[in-house]
Amino acid sequence: MSRTIIYPGTFDPITFGHMDIVKRATRLFDNVILAVAGDSSKNSLFCYDERIALCREVLSDIDGIEVVGFRGLLANFAQEKNACAFLRGLRAVSDFEFEFQLANMNRRLAPEIESLFLTPAEQYSFISSSLVKEVASLGGDITEFVHPIVAVALKDKFPS
Ligand code: ADP
Repeated sequence: MSRTIIYPGTFDPITFGHMDIVKRATRLFDNVILAVAGDSSKNSLFCYDERIALCREVLSDIDGIEVVGFRGLLANFAQEKNACAFLRGLRAVSDFEFEFQLANMNRRLAPEIESLFLTPAEQYSFISSSLVKEVASLGGDITEFVHPIVAVALKDKFPS
């Protein structure tokens, strides 16, 4: 039986931290679905289509990963896809509280789907999309944190 795990998020934009988590997951699961949230409460810099397109481009070399957008409840989407687990990344203790709440809420909504957590390589543990956007907006070098395609997209958003 093939096993599918869903990695949901805003991915505004996707970073090397997200990509590290994806690579680890593809070694453990037959299918990894990176699910880009369309109904995020966050005010995103990149629109829904841009976020999906960037994820597809930077992950195109990795086997076993599919990028899809979703709107509405993640739990419903995961059930439609027959996923056995939700994947989230944990960078530091500060991520834990929110992720714990989310995992419990998702368990209420879809009791048959487990939440699994992976940690990134140490050099990615301080990267967040919001910090990358802030550095880019102030003209800083973000090439260490994101794929070159994303770096170009960020440069277009913040021309100097
Ligand atoms: P969300 O808005 O759902 O938190 P994000 O795109 O910010 O979406 O993050 C998606 C998931 O990826 C979250 O579980 C987050 O903790 C994780 N994540 C974000 N950055 C990193 C990173 N540098 N290393 C590992 N996991 C990360």
